[in-house]
Amino acid sequence: MASIFSKDKKIRELLRRSRELKSISGASAILEWDQETFMPPEAATLRAGQLSVLAGIYHDHLISRDLRELLKSKGKNIYDTALLRLMKRSYEKEAKLPKELVEALSRQTSLATASWQEAKKKSDFSIFQSDLEKLLALSVKAAKYVQKKGQSVYDVMLDDFEEGLTEKETERIFEALKPKLVVLAQRLSLQTRGAGKVLKGKKFAIEKQKEIGEEIIRKMGFNFEAGRQDIAAHPFTQPIGTGDVRITSRYNESSLMESVLASIHEAGHALYYQGVDTRFDETSLYGSASLGMSESQSRFWENHVGRSLAFWNFFLPLIQRTFPEQLGKLKMREFVKAVNVVEPSLIRTEADEVTYGLHIILRFDIERQLVSGKIKVADLPAVWNQKMKEYLGIVPGNERVGVLQDIHWAHGTFGYFPTYLLGNLIAAQVWYTIKKQMPTVEADIQKGELKPLREWLRVNIYQYGKLYKTGELVKKVTGEDLNPDYFIRYLEEKFSSIYK
Ligand code: MG
Repeated sequence: MASIFSKDKKIRELLRRSRELKSISGASAILEWDQETFMPPEAATLRAGQLSVLAGIYHDHLISRDLRELLKSKGKNIYDTALLRLMKRSYEKEAKLPKELVEALSRQTSLATASWQEAKKKSDFSIFQSDLEKLLALSVKAAKYVQKKGQSVYDVMLDDFEEGLTEKETERIFEALKPKLVVLAQRLSLQTRGAGKVLKGKKFAIEKQKEIGEEIIRKMGFNFEAGRQDIAAHPFTQPIGTGDVRITSRYNESSLMESVLASIHEAGHALYYQGVDTRFDETSLYGSASLGMSESQSRFWENHVGRSLAFWNFFLPLIQRTFPEQLGKLKMREFVKAVNVVEPSLIRTEADEVTYGLHIILRFDIERQLVSGKIKVADLPAVWNQKMKEYLGIVPGNERVGVLQDIHWAHGTFGYFPTYLLGNLIAAQVWYTIKKQMPTVEADIQKGELKPLREWLRVNIYQYGKLYKTGELVKKVTGEDLNPDYFIRYLEEKFSSIYK
């Protein structure tokens, strides 16, 4: 296939380097994926060693002196320019870090992930505590090496996931959203009370749940020849290239929708990663514009599509055929009400669309204080419970469904959570654009025809990979800057149409 990059000698050399770096990080990504899916628990120390060596090799390749010279080149087209921008960004961060620190961080991340898994299984934070303390200390240390004047340590961490996003800006957006979400949550939890009953107290065989999930994501367009779906404690997507995108789900016999919505969510990420222009493969341009942008696509499929009347109009008969005893008599509207109950709950990933935002703001509130040292790791379980009471009015009965529920801190990804809420905001804004440009979208979904929607998203978003920054892409797609009002409007309209 013809390259879209220019034939400039220096750009060609940069592309060669970019491919090398992508291969190293791709190998690490497969090892990380394996750690969360198939690896036996006693391999944890071996795996930490392997990942740490690879992190060191990646570091050496990235910060070599001649690469710094090459990065001074001028691009001849937009692809060259994006390649230079993306490689320079990685270079500049990495070059500030001592290799020993990079290796130590990688090792500690792997160890913390393993102890988190055990701690969660046993619902005992103390198993995880010292590994998290070490990981937090290393992460803060690394951020301080990268920190620029006027940046907080948390700013540095946010910037890793969402370029240019700051603690202050996040706070401004979240502070404006919070009271609106609180009011909506109060009103809608009264209005939707009891509607979830029709799905409760039933058993759904896991093998059959898997079949349903697979059938739905196939229909969404997930390409099983360019990816696979497995089971993990915490569902995630691992993109290696357009030909290798791995997703996971989790299954609970008493909750069908948990696995179905998790599969739709991760497949939403995967469609993005499988839909990038294949000419970006093995270069720095492969991937999503940012985590927030990626999350906008997973949340889009999960919520705007996967919790809609139109979608279930087509898919409910499928799951009724699979579970005739449990769901055979259920009316479509009752079912859709049941998957759209607003109520304070313990688990973020299972939260409804309204209270979800409060789960995120809570985590933002905690982690920025964790990073600045105002909250100690040892106090996390107590702080967690106290904040849950403050934000959602409920307190978890154990640590598994409380402070240990998310994997993120075990991965050392402090500053990641805010991208989820940003993703929700972007998804709603994109949704209104789609409805304007494709007035038949809901009628298509109702017929189970998801291809026109997927194609729209591929052409307007997926194909661009990392070519544009998130802010640029949002503006290009929707015609305006990020505007949180769309999200509130969407929630109002959606719930009043389902619960009229
Ligand atoms: Mg996600």
